[in-house]
Amino acid sequence: MNRLYPSLGQLISRIGSRQIRNIGTIGGNIGTASPIGDTLPALIALNAIVTLFSLEEEREIRLEDFLVGYRKTCLKNGEVIKNIKIPKLTKNEYFKSYKVSKRYDQDISSVVGAYRLKIQASKISDIHIIYGGLAEKPSRAIKTELSLRQKQWNEDIVCDSAKNIPNDFTPISDHRASSSYRLRVASNLLVRLHRDITGEEDASGVVKVS
Ligand SMILES: Cc1cc2nc3c(=O)[nH]c(=O)nc-3n(C[C@H](O)[C@H](O)[C@H](O)COP(=O)(O)OP(=O)(O)OC[C@H]3O[C@@H](n4cnc5c(N)ncnc54)[C@H](O)[C@@H]3O)c2cc1C
Repeated sequence: MNRLYPSLGQLISRIGSRQIRNIGTIGGNIGTASPIGDTLPALIALNAIVTLFSLEEEREIRLEDFLVGYRKTCLKNGEVIKNIKIPKLTKNEYFKSYKVSKRYDQDISSVVGAYRLKIQASKISDIHIIYGGLAEKPSRAIKTELSLRQKQWNEDIVCDSAKNIPNDFTPISDHRASSSYRLRVASNLLVRLHRDITGEEDASGVVKVS
């Protein structure tokens, strides 16, 4: 995972504690269908396909369609997740995911952002933006995606598009984060994505804001 999707490997290294990571599975993270399950936004962004197996049949479904509501999946009686297929990134395609929580280690996320985008001739030819922690299930920021498709990949345009995030989500406030904080973080992560890909973010992961 680390080799093909370093950003996902990094995210997984922040799930729970070492003990939780040693015993927990990705199948269990998906099966829980939590709005703040850490692997879900990343796997949806990567267009992961889950294979569902039962004694009667075997079927494949996009993870995005597998999650149907708050902690709800379309798993039928007797079915289990058999495997997860993740398409490889193609040329000029980038993937990044970020977890934001109160503590760095051993903490449940306030917001998780995951992004897969293709940049050709300095233009965004395709982009998938998924957030966890902003809705009843990890969901795409459809309006924000639309505002970026076929646009130039530059920070002004990304900052402008980030203003669409409140049109995509109406998050709840709870003990982890307020609604406005979640929206602010989601917007800022989009800007971070741009800086990360263009190399403007330093290796420590600290974003320099001028
Ligand atoms: C202290 C602690 C910290 C945690 N921190 C995090 C965190 O930081 N981020 C995070 O995302 N999660 C966290 N979790 C939640 C949990 O550990 C993860 O979601 C983990 O991936 C669950 O995996 P599991 O194999 O233990 O699943 P289980 O707990 O065994 O199962 C969870 C659900 O998925 C179903 N399920 C499991 N496997 C399959 C399968 N193959 N097919 C179909 N359904 C299946 C089960 O029936 C159940 O409904 C934490 C949990 C604890 C206790």
